[in-house]
Amino acid sequence: MQILDGKLVSKAIKDQIAVQVAELKAQGKKIPHLAAILVGNDGASETYVASKVKSCAEIGYNSTLLRFDSQISEKHLLDNINMLNENPDIDGILVQLPLPKHINEELVINTIDPSKDVDGFHPMNVGKMVSGLPTFIPATPYGIMLMLEHYNIDTKGKHAVVIGRSHIVGTPMSILLSRNSNPGNCTVTLTHSHTKNLKELCLQADIVVAAIGKPEFVTADMVKEGAIVIDVGINRIPDASKKSGFRLVGDVKFDEVSPRSSYITPVPGGVGPMTIAALLKNTYHAAIGQKGNQN
Ligand code: NDP
Repeated sequence: MQILDGKLVSKAIKDQIAVQVAELKAQGKKIPHLAAILVGNDGASETYVASKVKSCAEIGYNSTLLRFDSQISEKHLLDNINMLNENPDIDGILVQLPLPKHINEELVINTIDPSKDVDGFHPMNVGKMVSGLPTFIPATPYGIMLMLEHYNIDTKGKHAVVIGRSHIVGTPMSILLSRNSNPGNCTVTLTHSHTKNLKELCLQADIVVAAIGKPEFVTADMVKEGAIVIDVGINRIPDASKKSGFRLVGDVKFDEVSPRSSYITPVPGGVGPMTIAALLKNTYHAAIGQKGNQN
């Protein structure tokens, strides 16, 4: 069993981007600038946005964090997105999800200028991704593809079972893995809460991608010997021994699944850092006006 070390791979990607940013600087060119919008005080969202902003600083990007109270009106939020759309200094815009219930998430995503939509959630970018055209690919599945590429994992002809069909993880993951590309060329089964024979399907999988949001949902009896296991889940479970009062676990029961797997991502330190690395790559492409991520 080999651990797929997201911290290590994301650092390698960030180091590479830092060199490219230094080159832009040396040539007197514009430095990439990411704007992040955070609404409310959700602890997990605060942590994610803070890591994204910190990573920007590490590699030499400019970043702007716009924070709003959870009571912000939908109109005020949309006005701010429009301001960022029109600001030529801003290359990438991300709105940390989820948003409070009174705000229409779809409307918010649709308001972001597709050429600055570095999360790749705008329908125009989703359409391009499905069509295999150059575009921004949603950061989490893009990060997973970069990880598979980094470890030179041969996915061709493998059966991948993706658990979860969200727009941000499961669905784009299934599309990317099924593409005629490397990594890719998998036969993909996309499963969800109405899937009847999940365990049976998982046992046939050469690759399992767990993106469910349920702590330690995937157990050893669901995983074939030698499978590649990608754990997307980030779940907080109470832990009195921690200062924060919780610890993070994935959607996979790591202790019992890891001995059966050929490769596995840990939580934390697996898919999470790769998501940030992929976001930074998308932002770089936005800044240089080249939406060319075709992984
Ligand atoms: P969603 O809640 O949007 O989607 C969960 C999916 O899991 C749904 O499609 C749902 O099915 C499916 N599901 C729920 N229960 C079952 C079940 N019993 N059997 C099979 N499928 C089931 O979650 P996200 O995709 O946004 O996130 C998933 C996890 O990944 C979360 O833990 C989240 O925190 C984490 N995450 C991690 C990221 C990272 O950077 N590492 C980035 C984004 C998310 P249905 O559609 O039928 O409801």
